[in-house]
Amino acid sequence: MKSPSDIVSVLERELGAQAIVGPGHERLDDYGRDESPLPEFYPPECAVLVESAAQACAVLRICLERKVPVTPRGAGSGMCGGALPVAGGVVLSTERMQRIKEIDPADLIAVVEPGVITGVLQTAVEDQGLFYPPDPASLEFCSIGGNAATNAGGPRAFKYGVTREYILGLEVCLMGGELLRCGRRTAKGVTGYDLVAGFVGTEGTFGVITELLVKLLPKPPAAATVLGVFADVPTAGTAINGLLRDGLRPRVLELADKASIDHIRAKSRYRFPANAGAIVLIEVDGEAESMQMMMEKVGMRCDELGALDVLAATEPAERRSVWEARRLISPSLKEAYRIKVNEDICVPRGRIVEMLARIDRISAETGIATAVFGHAGDGNLHCNLLSNDNPDDPDVRTRMWSAAEQVFRATVDLGGTLSGEHGVGLTKRDYIHLEQSEQVIEWQRRWKAMWDPSGLLNPGKRLPARRVCNE
Ligand SMILES: Cc1cc2nc3c(=O)[nH]c(=O)nc-3n(C[C@H](O)[C@H](O)[C@H](O)COP(=O)(O)OP(=O)(O)OC[C@H]3O[C@@H](n4cnc5c(N)ncnc54)[C@H](O)[C@@H]3O)c2cc1C
Repeated sequence: MKSPSDIVSVLERELGAQAIVGPGHERLDDYGRDESPLPEFYPPECAVLVESAAQACAVLRICLERKVPVTPRGAGSGMCGGALPVAGGVVLSTERMQRIKEIDPADLIAVVEPGVITGVLQTAVEDQGLFYPPDPASLEFCSIGGNAATNAGGPRAFKYGVTREYILGLEVCLMGGELLRCGRRTAKGVTGYDLVAGFVGTEGTFGVITELLVKLLPKPPAAATVLGVFADVPTAGTAINGLLRDGLRPRVLELADKASIDHIRAKSRYRFPANAGAIVLIEVDGEAESMQMMMEKVGMRCDELGALDVLAATEPAERRSVWEARRLISPSLKEAYRIKVNEDICVPRGRIVEMLARIDRISAETGIATAVFGHAGDGNLHCNLLSNDNPDDPDVRTRMWSAAEQVFRATVDLGGTLSGEHGVGLTKRDYIHLEQSEQVIEWQRRWKAMWDPSGLLNPGKRLPARRVCNE
């Protein structure tokens, strides 16, 4: 698809020059990248920084009239290339739509614009004794609109669920400029088909979210965090199963393997035992009076289940230092390797230990280093494929993606899914067929065509290109 070159001037006339990041602007290149491990750079013709739903609708009307592709973008923290303008054209950015319009403690809802940073919303509601649970690790810089578009998860999803469970209503601009409001403000509601749930997780391929009505909870009064250190993944896996069988319902249940620990050993303030082969991070929340007791119980069970060491905390500062070990993993890997392909596979909970063994085997066979950590409670593992080879070398990339394909195949073999939270975007679209039948893919194509018959909204994402014989 080629964009007519006058699109920038048309958009400038309609929205004003201050809304446009156009050719020659030093920031334009930023809209051609995100946090995906792709060396390619996809420069758009321009980015439009909309400030209202009316402006977003105008962009989508003009782009349809002129047959110009348009790619929605939040904060650009996506890890699978969903916000990359692969067909050129226009990037529609919501970064200026940062208003929290309403927080209502009685109805337990908030109304927000899509560009609000997730962590900002969390702090704003917590100041009023309320709680917005979804906590992607990127919460300090990702947007709530992007979270809804990717159905983002996070460590607390084990107890509280993912973003979809907190989106009650949406305002969406459709390709061509129509504005659609759907959903409800009530705690329950089953009138009509659930359009809101249908939009969440569609990665900007159905419409552009311009307002969200989110569900809130009362803020849990207290939390406690425990780090259990184990000799190996199977012992840690048995401990996780044991804790769950005890009836424990933690809000966080995270696991990291030996390779992950080895990368943070030197940096962490906590001194890991020399034979540490896996860590399990457990966080519980509830009434303040019960926290000390809960923490001691979890710590004691970790001991009984074979932990080499246990670190436990209830005070916020202490808890932050327990979390430090977990949070150091990803940046340490990024620092140590030139290529870090982070796949967020998800397997049934009972198959986690087997999945880690399969990843070890793939690593041994391909010679590609791996480090695995993630949300064990949900079976959602961040499998990092790591290399210090030249990322621009096509052979190196082929080798990395062929290892990723082996990881995907093993995941599906164990009854899992390619992505637990990051989405499909650009990087996983060609692997979907490993998990889904042609029939399921075809129904998704029809669904996409209903919202965007032109195919101009975020083209080249989520669904595999049609095979030539099917055209
Ligand atoms: C260090 C790090 C840690 C991360 N941790 C997590 C994690 O724990 N859990 C998790 O789920 N993800 C995580 N991510 C991935 C990423 O932060 C999430 O996918 C996030 O939801 C993307 O939000 P964004 O605003 O940056 O969206 P973008 O990257 O800008 O866009 C992502 C997708 O959403 C679409 N989109 C964005 N805004 C809109 C809108 N208003 N309307 C329609 N479509 C839109 C885009 O077209 C694109 O397809 C992490 C990323 C990093 C870099």
